[in-house]
Amino acid sequence: MGEFIVCKQVVRAYKIDTREVIALRGVDFEMNQGDWVAIVGPSGAGKSSLLNLLGGLDKPTAGQLSVDGIDLLSLRGAALVNYRLKEVGFLWQQTLRNLLPGRSALRNVTLPMMLAGVAPWKRAPRAKELLEAVGLKDQMYKRPGLLSGGQQQRVAMAVALANQPKLLLADEPTGELDSKSAISIVNMLQDLRERYGLTILMVTHDPDVAAYADRILTLRDGALGQNLT
Ligand code: ADP
Repeated sequence: MGEFIVCKQVVRAYKIDTREVIALRGVDFEMNQGDWVAIVGPSGAGKSSLLNLLGGLDKPTAGQLSVDGIDLLSLRGAALVNYRLKEVGFLWQQTLRNLLPGRSALRNVTLPMMLAGVAPWKRAPRAKELLEAVGLKDQMYKRPGLLSGGQQQRVAMAVALANQPKLLLADEPTGELDSKSAISIVNMLQDLRERYGLTILMVTHDPDVAAYADRILTLRDGALGQNLT
């Protein structure tokens, strides 16, 4: 059995007019299924670029990248849409990017299932189970605007897991939260990881949050540095 994530000599160069910005300059790492890895590094280091590649939102300029045996460089069309909807879940720093304000928590969680063609009768029970798993059983009919920042990020976790992805990508998931809410969110990630066997790749600048991961990788100027474990 191969590694769950294989990232070999991955390069991402952006062209702006005639200039080239190299965001990732030959990144190598592997993750097993069930691993939790934190990526730390200064702003502009290439962290978001790496998450976007793994999420199928962008393509490497060069290198090899596969998740669960799926080659992300050759993924196109319906297979790519399917990958983004079902194989991977996203948790962003800005809760507004995770949630639709006009829908209740419950209807935010059922939306990705609808997009993935899950049978209508299966959607609400699974959404309720997820909202219960993130401790929001009593808040599921509320719109995001009526929830606290920490509660919104919990709904966002349920949205990210709606289609039972194996991989969760989190970009500064606690960046907008106070330290108490931040720790409660990472504790919840730990519970969800155990409950659903998730593999987690998380970008953070908070050492207390990064400490929850099995491994910490540092990214600097588009290259991975030492393993801080
Ligand atoms: P981080 O998430 O660590 O802050 P990013 O991946 O956002 O780093 O950015 C890495 C580098 O790539 C930066 O120099 C940034 O300006 C550049 N960059 C990121 N996205 C784009 C883009 N869409 N077009 C051009 N340059 C980009």
